Amino acid sequence: MTCPNCGSSGMRIFHRAGNVPTNSCILLETRAEALAYPRGDIALGFCATCGFVSNTAFDPRLTEYSGRYEETQGFSPTFQRFHHDLAERLIARFGLAGKVILEIGCGKGEFLLLLCKGGRNRGIGFDPSYRFDRHTPAPGESVRFVQDFYSEKYSSVHADFVCCKMTLEHIGPTAEFVGTIRRALGDSPARVFFMIPDTTRIMGDCAFEDIYYEHCSYFSPVSLAYLFLTEGFHPLGVDAEFDGQYIAITANMAPSGSGARLDGVDRQEGPLRGDWLRNADIPGVSAASAERFASGIDSFPPAFKRKLNYWRERMAENGKRGRKAVIWGSGSKGVAFLTTLGLGEEIACAVDINPHRHGYFMPGTGHRIVGPEELREVRPDQVIVMNPIYRVEIGEQLQRLGLEPEILTVAESPGDSGRR
Ligand SMILES: [Zn+2]
Repeated sequence: MTCPNCGSSGMRIFHRAGNVPTNSCILLETRAEALAYPRGDIALGFCATCGFVSNTAFDPRLTEYSGRYEETQGFSPTFQRFHHDLAERLIARFGLAGKVILEIGCGKGEFLLLLCKGGRNRGIGFDPSYRFDRHTPAPGESVRFVQDFYSEKYSSVHADFVCCKMTLEHIGPTAEFVGTIRRALGDSPARVFFMIPDTTRIMGDCAFEDIYYEHCSYFSPVSLAYLFLTEGFHPLGVDAEFDGQYIAITANMAPSGSGARLDGVDRQEGPLRGDWLRNADIPGVSAASAERFASGIDSFPPAFKRKLNYWRERMAENGKRGRKAVIWGSGSKGVAFLTTLGLGEEIACAVDINPHRHGYFMPGTGHRIVGPEELREVRPDQVIVMNPIYRVEIGEQLQRLGLEPEILTVAESPGDSGRR
């Protein structure tokens, strides 16, 4: 298979997960519908040329991004703080005042509104899962939403700043997509900001809960910088965000047909072997980070086996002792955790603080999604937190509910004596 990020041939498959739901954020109204949800396969391939990881079995026809897609983390105070802080930093760093901001994959539009409000900017957001009924424009607000995928047909949309958060990992043909944006921007002096999960962490920690069908493209700082460089951008740096869970690239336009930083980028040779890394001098991107990523790929398969055994044993132990467990987090991580481990009755339900998800069912396994309040009746003995970053927030919430279950996080691994 040809690498969609660099065009070279021969991706090495290193991880498979069969029969997983093709969507993990969709709202499903009945248990039957959830159990019957369409399934697809994951076969992660590693490109030794550019360091990219792709689901080689991905079929975009099996995905659905519509108003039923409920992905927002905006109900979590931890996430809100991160969002506000990120918006403020971008406004300050790029002088975003009185500018036009284009957001590709804006979801329900929360972040674009923050960027526009904070700097009196005008905004245009694209997302097929945008919901017009969720937002009432404030007086003086100048933000427009388009309920569609961004594509070539919108290339006349002018922008001073292009923001694309948690979207590129959903796109299979990454080079084609970033190339489309570059061509649309033409000679404009726009800056771009792209943020995605950091696969270096996913591989190194064997975070299997972060591997699911909608995410067909997995980046490290090196493969991300390589993509932007070869598609005509001038990367300013790759930064870690959200406690190291995300990476973000910022870039200018490279003058077309030139750019000293392109010296040494040889599509035949690729970043892992070429000397462009030394020449490029991009903060956050180094030969050491390329090596760290490659070694994470090697350690992933055996670590995955150990983790599966670990969780299966814990679940069996719960069964033996009659202990009731729930997961906290009904989004993609939750779906991946349940389906990868093949959990059914072992988990009583999935908890989520997003009220728009309550009463619905988890695709694939059919677990019911409940609000935190309902735990007063469920009375779990064990809460498994799907994203460790929310552990403190969840602990406080359980305390307020008068509950004292054992709290585990999905980051827990064989040999961990303590909690993380
Ligand atoms: Zn490649």
